[in-house]
Amino acid sequence: MYKDRSYVRANNARQSARRRALLAATDVETFDPVEIFARDNWTCHLCDQPVDRAAKVPDHQAPTLDHLTPLAHGGPHTRANVRCAHFICNSVRQDKPLSCANN
Ligand SMILES: [Zn+2]
Repeated sequence: MYKDRSYVRANNARQSARRRALLAATDVETFDPVEIFARDNWTCHLCDQPVDRAAKVPDHQAPTLDHLTPLAHGGPHTRANVRCAHFICNSVRQDKPLSCANN
C-alpha cells in the first residue's frame, strides 16, 4: 500500500522519541551496587540466603541488583527500588515460585 518507506521511518522516529521520553521520566540514581549489597547484609531478598561476595556473574551465587519494579515496567533505578539478589534468583524471578539452589 505504501509506495515508499517513509511511513515506517516516521513511525520508528515516533517510537524512539517515546522511548527517550520514558527514560527521561525514569528516576536514575548513581550508586555502587556494593552499597546496596552491604545495606541488605549480603542477603538475597528472594530466598533469604546469603550471597557469595566473592562470586561474579554468571556464578549462580553472585550478588546482583534486582529491581522491585522492573525497569521494563517503568521502575526507577534508585536505591529504594533495588535489592540484593542471587544471580540465579534474579534470573528465574518472574511470576513463578522461586527456587534457589543455595546449598
Ligand atoms: Zn537467592
